[in-house]
Amino acid sequence: MVGAAVCRRLSQEPGVVLLTRPRDELDLCDDDAVARFVEKERPATVIFAAAKVGGIHANQSFPVEFLTDNLRQELSTIHASYRFGVRRFLFLGSTCIYPRLAQQPIREDQLLAGPLEPTNEAYALAKIAGLKLCQYFRQQYGVLYHSAMPTNLYGPGDNYHVEHSHVLPGLIRKFHEAKITGAPSVTIWGTGTPLREFLHVDDLADAIVHLCKLANPPDWVNVGTSVDISILELAKLIAKVVGYQGAITTDPSKPDGTPRKLTDTSLLRSTGWVPGVPLNEGLIRTYADFLEETQSGRLRSI
Ligand code: GDP
Repeated sequence: MVGAAVCRRLSQEPGVVLLTRPRDELDLCDDDAVARFVEKERPATVIFAAAKVGGIHANQSFPVEFLTDNLRQELSTIHASYRFGVRRFLFLGSTCIYPRLAQQPIREDQLLAGPLEPTNEAYALAKIAGLKLCQYFRQQYGVLYHSAMPTNLYGPGDNYHVEHSHVLPGLIRKFHEAKITGAPSVTIWGTGTPLREFLHVDDLADAIVHLCKLANPPDWVNVGTSVDISILELAKLIAKVVGYQGAITTDPSKPDGTPRKLTDTSLLRSTGWVPGVPLNEGLIRTYADFLEETQSGRLRSI
């Protein structure tokens, strides 16, 4: 989802030649294959949008894969980039790198200020390692390796798996199917009270291009809207956009995860970037994308 959005955005930039490879042609966990690719193509800049990602249930169920796959992908790519002369590397992480009970809104200096949220600890540890490795390369070897930490993302190309997806695509699918089958109610996981912030992936792509143009970017910077919403309110909004009129119930036996995850985006704003897609508009666009992906058989659900 992120890589495709970055390519769409970069295709509007004059003079940019995109070097991409699908997963079945280049396995980022394979050090030698990654080194051969970077040596041959010699990119000037690498934008690292690859990751093994998933929602609260997937993260909790597969911590081994979430830690090892993400570590291997980032280690192979960062090391090969340095070895073959890449001067600029933009590493993407997530705001789940911050402590479970971080001071809200979360500033960048909250990193490592307390224990992580257990439901996504493995993913967060991998992303913290990648962010720190980029910082160390910059400090030790003078290359411009820096990071961006986006809040919860959504948009075209998202994963709509019923159990493994994040909340926003998961609920789009549930409400859509409930509308089609005429189900009287839809149950959302947890209490509905956790607060989350959502960023359209096209906004992230725009922020990435902006960061890549800065001569002296921060080592890591939050990317978000600084506006949050409860999961129950999000569910109501999605029901409205989808056109579902039944009831919404909660299932407190499912985990809530971190109670609140609101980013302080003043550092990014101070460099001259603001988001452009309000949640309501982003949801309308995303539901249209979902319908289009469903009808064309391209819907991702893995
Ligand atoms: P998180 O932001 O890392 O916690 O990941 P998620 O996007 O998976 O979950 C966010 C919140 O939405 C959690 O409190 C979930 O319990 C809640 N939630 C409610 N319904 C769903 C659902 O159908 N799928 C997912 N993934 N989360 C849901």
